[in-house]
Amino acid sequence: MYDILFEHATVVCCDESMQVLEDTCVGVKDGKIAYLGKERADAARKINASGKVLMPGLINTHTHIPMTLMRGLSDDTDLQDWLQNHIFPTEDRLDDGIVKAGVDLALLEMIANGTTSFSDSYFFMQTVAESVHKSGLKANLARSVTNFGQEVKLLDFYSTREEVELYDTWHKAEDGRILVDAAIHAEYTTSESLWRELRAFALEKNLVLQVHLSETRREHEECIEKYGKTPARLFYDAGVFDVKTLAAHCVHVTDEDLALFVEKGVSVAHNPMSNLKLASGIARVPEMLKRGINVGLGTDGVASNNNVDLFEEIKLCACLHKGVSGDPCAMSAAQALRCATYGGAKAQGREHECGTIALGMDADLILVDFSAPHLIPCHNPISNLVYAARGSDVCMTMVRGNILYENGVFLTLDAERILHDFKTNGTDRLFSS
Ligand SMILES: [Zn+2]
Repeated sequence: MYDILFEHATVVCCDESMQVLEDTCVGVKDGKIAYLGKERADAARKINASGKVLMPGLINTHTHIPMTLMRGLSDDTDLQDWLQNHIFPTEDRLDDGIVKAGVDLALLEMIANGTTSFSDSYFFMQTVAESVHKSGLKANLARSVTNFGQEVKLLDFYSTREEVELYDTWHKAEDGRILVDAAIHAEYTTSESLWRELRAFALEKNLVLQVHLSETRREHEECIEKYGKTPARLFYDAGVFDVKTLAAHCVHVTDEDLALFVEKGVSVAHNPMSNLKLASGIARVPEMLKRGINVGLGTDGVASNNNVDLFEEIKLCACLHKGVSGDPCAMSAAQALRCATYGGAKAQGREHECGTIALGMDADLILVDFSAPHLIPCHNPISNLVYAARGSDVCMTMVRGNILYENGVFLTLDAERILHDFKTNGTDRLFSS
């Protein structure tokens, strides 16, 4: 007997062939996908998924969720002005209580929009991990480290020590639902002694390493001026890419950089909305995919997006690369959807547990209601998911067979209290003076 059986579902598997199975049953048992086929079977609960699409949960490969506190704080400015005059001064006033308020709001938003796993690098990560733990979501969490040229010894430098503490407390918590990654903030905020320390730590513990890479032209060119190398070449030569790396943005990378990604198996987190909003540019994703580089999608922090609705990124990813190349075949709907699911799972080192619908995979599933006017008719479910659906069409979010959200109701988090606390413990305190 299954714990849950979805009946009459249109199943978008997001496997290699992007199979779509019509009128199909999916059985969930002990948190896993235990059945996929036409036969009905006994289940503790049956969910009639007629008129709905069942697909793998979306995976956000690059975000900084406490930044919900800064949603709409400063728009329409360039990256340097935005960071130096708006974001950094606000971040200086953060504390655990304020961050918790921001994190919990972000978790509600992600769950309601069909995200089941995300990669995050920021600070106050113990607080982030505690809330993720309660929420039921999966996450790869990293203490983002900057050292600005200071000498770093792993256990003697405060932020790398926090990373080690995060690892000791949370890595593989809940049987791997929470994983701890390492994170070098970016080339322009760090230096060699930090790369050496985090590289050794990540290799020893077999962690993924998150890094911002060649996000802006200025960052890319100043690195060449300073070192005579691109950021990717610099990290490659320092051995950083010996670690399983997830590089965010990669907007200004060269052909040679892409060859290094191929050689080292670097995954890219593509953040089309954030890159457009901050006028950073457009990553050459079709070229990356052609070369076999794994690409996941990310929203980046809410201060530069301004939401964590991955459906927006999927549509943008599918359309943007057509527009800049003049080729409507540059990026297909299926490719964009695969990036948001399997590509994300692979970037997180989770491709054997989630990102596709197949027997034995974790039941990290979402149901999308296709009865809304903007989703009728449905000639092709993948087309509707990519070009017509929105995050708000998600009517159920499940991680490891555990339903986190159903028909507007949050089952693991107290939405009413979170919304109240966001103001009183979050924005009221952060912006009071
Ligand atoms: Zn970022």
